[in-house]
Amino acid sequence: MTAVEWTQAQRESSAPPRAERVSARSEPVRTCIGCRRRELAADLMRVVAQRSVDSEQTVVVVPDPRRRLPGRGAWMHPSSACLSQAVRRRAIGGALRVSGHLDISALEHYVENRHEHS
Ligand SMILES: [Zn+2]
Repeated sequence: MTAVEWTQAQRESSAPPRAERVSARSEPVRTCIGCRRRELAADLMRVVAQRSVDSEQTVVVVPDPRRRLPGRGAWMHPSSACLSQAVRRRAIGGALRVSGHLDISALEHYVENRHEHS
């Protein structure tokens, strides 16, 4: 049962609504594909797969800080540790449902730069 269904079930029952504990609607939770921990989406970065213009066999994985890019997205902590974990477990291709060679250089760049500034 999802949080939303649970809220509706609560409302439909005779029990008076409890305090506003259910903030899930404004703060969605995602699972990091690297360490697999659940985290607020606001603290994770979204990544999407894009076709490479150079090679049909290559899928370019790019960060999507604005969360606006079309296509299937995956979520992960913007850290090199989670990135390397995701790579090792081949979680990126699995989460994005893509196969072939993954070019994650843009991701690595993004994570490294973030790291320097934090
Ligand atoms: Zn993580």
